[in-house]
Amino acid sequence: MSPVLRIAVQKKGRLANGSMKLLEQAGLSISPNPGALTCRAQGLPIELLFVRDDDIPSLVAKGVCDLGIAGENVLREEALEGPGEEALLTVRPLGFSRCTLKLAAPRDGNIKSIEDLQGCKIATSYPQILESFLKEHNIEADCVTLKGAVEIAPALGLSDAICDLVSSGATLAANGLTDFATVMKSQALLIRSNTVWDEAREALLARLLRRIDGVIASRATKYIMLNAPKEAIDDITALLPGADAPTIMPLVGRDDQMAVHAVCRETIFWDTLEQLEARGAHAILVLPIEKMMG
Ligand code: ATP
Ligand code: ZN
Repeated sequence: MSPVLRIAVQKKGRLANGSMKLLEQAGLSISPNPGALTCRAQGLPIELLFVRDDDIPSLVAKGVCDLGIAGENVLREEALEGPGEEALLTVRPLGFSRCTLKLAAPRDGNIKSIEDLQGCKIATSYPQILESFLKEHNIEADCVTLKGAVEIAPALGLSDAICDLVSSGATLAANGLTDFATVMKSQALLIRSNTVWDEAREALLARLLRRIDGVIASRATKYIMLNAPKEAIDDITALLPGADAPTIMPLVGRDDQMAVHAVCRETIFWDTLEQLEARGAHAILVLPIEKMMG
């Protein structure tokens, strides 16, 4: 029987969509029955376990699941909390669910910098990360641990400042708060248990990782096609971001023009397109790449 890798993913929340999308792009077809806590994927011998994000590190550390997709913030908090850190390995940063753990305080108050936190009360869901940050900055402050709705703590008189996850900053603004320092940046990570796996299981992980790497690489990568005057080809190919070997082809019936096709491994900004156009490039097409390998 082929091995089954079990992956813990968040059931519902800010990691869930990105996790499912990544696995689907890696070729897994996932259609869980409504309310089901597990689902056997089609495409590779993989089973998913749908859980709360906070449970993912320990499920993987205990070997209940082989792999998990969790936020860097949750992993750091767990690791600081106590032993067991060595039970997990980060396999890949996944580039989604990006957010920043920030310090913030009431907009019209006196706290404007880290130094102003001396002797204050700070509400957070990440007490371990906050305490280690404060220690690093020689600040003595009280951490008030709240599981959620941290932003309203100052208005309720529970704290003077907060330490919370921020992506756009809209929630902070809506609660009359302004951020003044970054504690850590976070993104989703693929983690595995730090135990010895049998060869078949390792081979299955390697296969999944090749696909995941292809999905991640293709996110920023674009295929660009354009036509350009022969004499401008060197200038134009030099402008293509992250393109290693463009294909240059003649155009039927146009001796003065060539077609340029290239895979660009970096973001192509509008500025670049304008510069290409200024050098005589025309019929410029930028196409997304769905999958990459090799
Ligand atoms: P659960 O019910 O699974 O415990 P939760 O309410 O604790 O969910 P979510 O709000 O879904 O958690 O956030 C899960 C993870 O997503 C966070 O730990 C963090 O890594 C990331 N995250 C949090 N806030 C944001 C955000 N605003 N934008 C993007 N990612 C975020
Ligand atoms: Zn949670």
